[in-house]
Amino acid sequence: MCSERIASHCVCCGDTDLKTSPAVLMPFVAKRVFGHEPVMITSDWGIRDLQLGMAYSICNSMQCGNCGALFMDLRFSDVEMAKLYEGYRDEEYTCLRDFYEPGYRATNEFYSGRSSYISTIEAFLSPRVPATPVLLDWGGDNGINTPLKDSAFTVHIYDISNKPALSGALAVDMSIVRSTNYDLIVCSQVLEHVPFPKALLGEIVSVMSRETQLYLEVPYEALMRAHAGSKEIYKAKRHWHEHINFFSEESLLTMLEQTGLQLVEIRAIPLSLGWRDSCVMSILCRRA
Ligand SMILES: [Zn+2]
Repeated sequence: MCSERIASHCVCCGDTDLKTSPAVLMPFVAKRVFGHEPVMITSDWGIRDLQLGMAYSICNSMQCGNCGALFMDLRFSDVEMAKLYEGYRDEEYTCLRDFYEPGYRATNEFYSGRSSYISTIEAFLSPRVPATPVLLDWGGDNGINTPLKDSAFTVHIYDISNKPALSGALAVDMSIVRSTNYDLIVCSQVLEHVPFPKALLGEIVSVMSRETQLYLEVPYEALMRAHAGSKEIYKAKRHWHEHINFFSEESLLTMLEQTGLQLVEIRAIPLSLGWRDSCVMSILCRRA
């Protein structure tokens, strides 16, 4: 189940009650991952049984009848994930993305640096965790958006990008992660990108002690907010980009339970990002 190309089990709860509807993989992701480009099917192809017009990479939107998780049926391999995220937002990445999504470069440059919303997350975390925590940011890039970075006693970053960490943080490998007792592990804006979020959560749990608190954060996507609790959202999801998993509250809670985690608090936190209003689902939990 963990290496399926096309999901036949829910990526959050493992259930096989899945409903699907046709969708497209957006051209930037299709090009980065598969090398596929949109193509115009014209009459000179001479194919009797195809209708003429633009062809895109297709996929299915899939929703779990048990927990409500909504996700793309295609699951990327490790090699494909590396193709998508290596050199994330570097010049080559930005150039290709701006080609398919004009205006991306300008937006990305304007909002580079530490995200302004992190202070909102710190306000949520501060009263709930030790004042100067030994902290691990799992998937935290170079630590640019690590919450509590300035007040933490230690900041470790574990990330496949292997970028050098910013001042005040240390990029670490799994052997250091396993030998460190963390007060707080942060996994923020990661689970929506990965093909097997429950498996990743299981990996994180395996390095937690009884005292470790885990802060999980995922986007609470507008579509999921607008139809909270619905199991019919798959019909409305027509395209997929970097976020290949859209979580319902129920799907997150089910995933926690199945990976041996106990909920401390879950909260939908609205954010104003300047150019659009957004929302994240913030979860604090520990080992059950
Ligand atoms: Zn499910």
